[in-house]
Amino acid sequence: MPETMLELQDIHTYYGQIHALKGLNLTVNQGEIVALIGGNGAGKTTTLRTISGMMKPKVGRVTYLGQDVGGVPSHVIMSRGMSHVPEGRRIFPQLTVRENLEVGAYTISDRRLIEQRIQEGFALFPRLKERETQLGGTMSGGEQQMLAIARALMVAPKLLLLDEPSMGLSPLFVEAIFDIVEKLNRERGTTILLVEQNASMALGIAHRAYVLQTGEIKLSGDAAHIAQDESVRKAYLGDE
Ligand code: ATP
Repeated sequence: MPETMLELQDIHTYYGQIHALKGLNLTVNQGEIVALIGGNGAGKTTTLRTISGMMKPKVGRVTYLGQDVGGVPSHVIMSRGMSHVPEGRRIFPQLTVRENLEVGAYTISDRRLIEQRIQEGFALFPRLKERETQLGGTMSGGEQQMLAIARALMVAPKLLLLDEPSMGLSPLFVEAIFDIVEKLNRERGTTILLVEQNASMALGIAHRAYVLQTGEIKLSGDAAHIAQDESVRKAYLGDE
């Protein structure tokens, strides 16, 4: 039996009166890449925010590593090995690449460990090494996405939540980012929950997938199987 890392049971999350998640059930097992796909406003970002403690569900239970994390503040959940790369990257534009990475390690006091993690980040993203002293805000969109991911990796997360890493990137960068996500999973065993509008790329690297529509899971299963589903192909993979 696979070991469950994350489980959402009957989650209802609201923005004021807006009922964004309507009874969501979702599981991520250790070692998996799970894709969460769906159109604009389906609730993908809200799902990640609910998992990482940025939003509190009105109803339902979020279990992470066997513990109920409902109402646990974000920074405490993060200290248990979960990292969230938010939509739109949110790197610090006025800080250098190296300083951005150091900020990602604010919960770590061991200087040697911080330096080791920075070097691991540079090994994964050589382009960041070349740009170590460049200000984050002057980097290209793709470079900023790399920095956002490298920053999230500073805590060596067990579970990485990625919100639309391919958004606004050129095809070459999209390819590079997806390669890295796959590599992290394969070589480090990092478990990944990947939110994407680019459904075909996401389904290409994921083991399992969930299709979200107006706050509800419409379909779930093996990623290869979901990629063959006719309704998914029409709605998200551009088939006529
Ligand atoms: P996208 O792919 O367009 O980013 P999404 O699937 O990530 O969409 P969410 O951002 O989770 O969708 O939004 C789910 C629903 O919640 C939408 O109806 C959206 O309008 C609403 N919503 C999101 N953020 C807020 C907010 N800050 N205040 C009010 N409503 C919000």
